[in-house]
Amino acid sequence: MFSLTAQDVKTGVPLADKAAVIQALADWLEQDGHVAAGYGAGMLTREAQNSTYLGQGIAIPHGTQECRHLIKNTGIKAMHLPDGVPWGGGERAYLVLGIAAGSDEHLDLLKQLARTLSRDGLFERVKAARQSQEVLQLLQGNAESATETKFVLSADRVAVKARAGTLELLVEQAATLMQLNPTEESALQQSAGMYIGQGWWLKQIPADDKPGAALLTASGITHRQQPVSGLLALAVRGSEHKTLLTRVADWLAAGRGAELAGQDSAEALLNVLKRGPVSLSSHQRTVVVRNTHGLHARPGAMLVQAAKNFDADIQVCNLDGDEHWVSAKSLMKMIGLGVKAGHQLVFRAEGPDAEAALDALTEAVNGGLGEAFVAQATEPQAEEHDIHEPQGIDPNTLVRGVAASPGIAIGPVFVDAPLRFDYPQQAGDTQAEQQKLSAAIEQASAELSATLRRLSDTQARDMMSMHRELLADSSLTQGVSCRIKQGQSAAAAWWSEIDSAADRQAASSDALLAERAADIRDIGRRVMAILCHSRMTPPPEHPYLWLAQDIGPSQLVNLDPSRVLGLVTVGGGASSHSAILARSLGIPALVAAGGAVMALPSGTEAILNGDDGTLWVAPEAAMLEQARVRQQREREQAEQDWMRRHDAAITLDGHRIGVAANLADTGQAREVMEVGAEGVGLLRTEFVFMARHSEPDLDEQLAFYRQAFDALDGRPLVARTLDVGGDKPLPYWPVPKEDNPFLGVRGIRLCMQKPELLKTQLRALLMAAGDRPLRIMFPMVADWSEWRWAKALFDKIQSEVQATDVQVGIMVEVPSVALNAAVFAEEVDFFSIGTNDLTQYTLAMDRGNGGLARLSDGLNPAVLRLIKMVVDAAHAKGKWVGVCGELASDPVALPLLLGLGVDELSVSLKRVTLVKAQVREWSLSSCRKLAEQALQAVDAPAVRQLYNN
Ligand code: PEP
Ligand code: MG
Repeated sequence: MFSLTAQDVKTGVPLADKAAVIQALADWLEQDGHVAAGYGAGMLTREAQNSTYLGQGIAIPHGTQECRHLIKNTGIKAMHLPDGVPWGGGERAYLVLGIAAGSDEHLDLLKQLARTLSRDGLFERVKAARQSQEVLQLLQGNAESATETKFVLSADRVAVKARAGTLELLVEQAATLMQLNPTEESALQQSAGMYIGQGWWLKQIPADDKPGAALLTASGITHRQQPVSGLLALAVRGSEHKTLLTRVADWLAAGRGAELAGQDSAEALLNVLKRGPVSLSSHQRTVVVRNTHGLHARPGAMLVQAAKNFDADIQVCNLDGDEHWVSAKSLMKMIGLGVKAGHQLVFRAEGPDAEAALDALTEAVNGGLGEAFVAQATEPQAEEHDIHEPQGIDPNTLVRGVAASPGIAIGPVFVDAPLRFDYPQQAGDTQAEQQKLSAAIEQASAELSATLRRLSDTQARDMMSMHRELLADSSLTQGVSCRIKQGQSAAAAWWSEIDSAADRQAASSDALLAERAADIRDIGRRVMAILCHSRMTPPPEHPYLWLAQDIGPSQLVNLDPSRVLGLVTVGGGASSHSAILARSLGIPALVAAGGAVMALPSGTEAILNGDDGTLWVAPEAAMLEQARVRQQREREQAEQDWMRRHDAAITLDGHRIGVAANLADTGQAREVMEVGAEGVGLLRTEFVFMARHSEPDLDEQLAFYRQAFDALDGRPLVARTLDVGGDKPLPYWPVPKEDNPFLGVRGIRLCMQKPELLKTQLRALLMAAGDRPLRIMFPMVADWSEWRWAKALFDKIQSEVQATDVQVGIMVEVPSVALNAAVFAEEVDFFSIGTNDLTQYTLAMDRGNGGLARLSDGLNPAVLRLIKMVVDAAHAKGKWVGVCGELASDPVALPLLLGLGVDELSVSLKRVTLVKAQVREWSLSSCRKLAEQALQAVDAPAVRQLYNN
């Protein structure tokens, strides 16, 4: 494996031409003695044959086969070009790695890079890197753990039906496949071969340099009175051979070694090896995970619980991950699989109740593991922040972090310094340490159970049960026991094990899964505090802003909301459990504030603004006063708004605007009335289809839709027909993987493939409505033919059902529809603008890409112009227009949408009261003026600036 140091990386390279960059890299490789003169020409020839652009802003120029003789020793040099260099095919390379690899060592690098390249948001990070260390981190990522678990055999290291009369001759062939040198070959010959059963033999040597492996099958040979039908030869380094060995062992354990040895070709052998044995006694089931955030800790805990109900030994493997098997009864292992939405899990079980176990687990995964498969608003992503060493903060300074829970909190800070644990590294009495550990875990578990009994909040309860589950995880306790047996003290063993488990978790490429590292450390600290008899600094008696490195979820559920005014953490993300809990408790919070805040003296006065993610430290009196006034005003305003929630939203000059609620579940329909919404402006009907493993029939759908109409008491309901596919496929409706799911078969395009499904949904909606006001709209319409197709289907069903108060419209999510709005306005009854998608398609910025979040602003004048086109076209034909995307909740967007002539805003339940109140603060005439100016603005920040003027 290549190793790169800071000396091999140059940043800020000002070159602007591909050939110059390649030559500079070749010169550098030559200077450092890796290659002889002329290698650069070979690199350029290679480049002319085929571009070496890898993706995500990275290129890897290297020499041709013909110039290999110029390589003196393996080397690699990296140059970072802040402005990028065109690398052909319209690509720009920001990070260029010049490679001189004597053998096929560059494959290791490629493997490492392939893994790196699959990380989200990498391009932005590559582009933005400025320091050598940043570049190294980008390249190294978690490659080490990847190689430990990856399947590492290629077909050129496999020989089937090898012609060899003795085991020695077979080993000789293995050595050739592995490209061993004579010393290594003789070591392999002399190594004690191990008979691992069913005709299979294992021979291994330690790898001096590179690890290696070969797999051979043969017939008609015996060795030490045992048949030789298969040989696994290994040059072992670390645990990199583990996956391969486990795969072979799986086949032998299933009693199917002969079948493995009987494969006809190297490819076939590798395929079956990879797939694993499906023995008569071993049962397997494959299932796709549909949870929006994958198998993060809570659904993982539910799955583990379900597995524990059975005696069978149950293993699970993520086919879209590293493909290694782990126990389905270990939460730690389960979340370590890094299962994301859309990943396929395979369960296998052995034992008397194996079938029942697999049924239950499949059903549990298909059932959502306690989560509804609904389209959820994306959690704001934490931004990258430097974690500064505490250096103190001057008075009256603004600290910026990531907003995690809204609201203003003012008060003295309580700096919760991390607990210090004093403990010996080694201990003499293994048994006593083991007992100490068990007692501490038992006590921690009892504390958690006591907390659980006290809690009423479901989210908090789920989290605490998950912690209890982690605490009982056998993979964790086994690891600790092993360390204790090797002489470590209970505390040292426990903390090392927690530390490495948390590090592994934090290395997950999925932000949400990575944040579960905080949960692991939280249970770790809980047990450490017991083992080391440590006590936390008690918080003050008076109300305070809680500042900590990291606030564990278990600390949060125990906090006293009457004393904790707000939360600030050094690290963390807005989707951490702590942030989620802070939001559910209604406590303003700021995360990723940076380490400097820990140097503040406790008692320092500060203003925490959870809306914009800032902390004013030791503000001047005037600033403090201002914040107090604002806080008080917001409180009073919220109370007043609530009192007036049932009044219409009418501007100062008498223009009425509809304010409706977005619903993702008809179970919430009662709240629509409570918050004062004038109806449902968007019912995302996906929820009816997603939390299940087969299509809902007419009666089931009817029940859901009736529930909504009944609760609405005559108010209109705008139902969007099924909007799935692409990034959110249905478990029972597999769709081929697409390179660009957002540009693929989704929404109405997908329904066109299954008209029966849409017919049933339309029938159910119309039947449920009867004579109550129903508005139906089709999602993701881009083309006239799609509208015509959907409308014809609707007309047919309506002629059979005859609901009396129905309008049919389309969502405007694709720019083509906005541009052609005049055509559509001839036929549709209304438009509803989905600004979330309209913005992503107009600006070509993935709505889920955190790196683009700031740029991807629906207030871009281009989006506003499209909205205006839709409104003008609709009004010219007497049709109405609603906005149901997130933009409708943005206070800056509100006057603009009003000014552009939008008739209805549909927002989340929590925002209805506030939006109604905001409408009342504006006059339509001033909104129109503002909108006119916004349409002339150059970009979204300029539009936002208008609001502040
Ligand atoms: C939108 O795109 O704005 C919209 C409301 O639809 P969704 O967010 O469900 O894609
Ligand atoms: Mg949409």
